[in-house]
Amino acid sequence: MPCIFCDIPTERIVWQDELVFAIRDAFPVTEGHTLLIPKRHVATWFEATEAEQRALMRGLDAAKAQLDATEAPDGYNIGINAGAAAGQTVMHLHVHLIPRRTGDVDDPRGGVRHVIPGKGNYLGRGHD
Ligand code: 5GP
Ligand code: ZN
Repeated sequence: MPCIFCDIPTERIVWQDELVFAIRDAFPVTEGHTLLIPKRHVATWFEATEAEQRALMRGLDAAKAQLDATEAPDGYNIGINAGAAAGQTVMHLHVHLIPRRTGDVDDPRGGVRHVIPGKGNYLGRGHD
């Protein structure tokens, strides 16, 4: 089965080590949206080895340092969609690193909680 992340042209790679590489997302949520991807084809975080998981986390730090230097964003969202039910569309593990800027949305509270529309901002909902 063809896989776009197994066939990424090397010139698209912005960082790599033995196990993992980073590319910019082709359809970025924000400027600088970066994907950390294991070189071995595995479907989700849970099939990756501990060494691959550690390399992905090192890659996050490396890509974040690059983005801090070039874009100086105000924050980041980090996310993994594991499985089609969770929204995964490319079935080769990748970690999203999404730079955020103050004011890029009206109310950012909740961040990654917004995967379920309407459930993100528990602070803005009032309490029972
Ligand atoms: P998922 O929905 O599986 O978590 O994320 C897949 C990501 O891959 C999306 O953010 C999408 O924009 C990105 N993407 C899809 N096709 C390509 C491609 O050909 N090149 C790159 N760099 N990113 C891609
Ligand atoms: Zn693949």
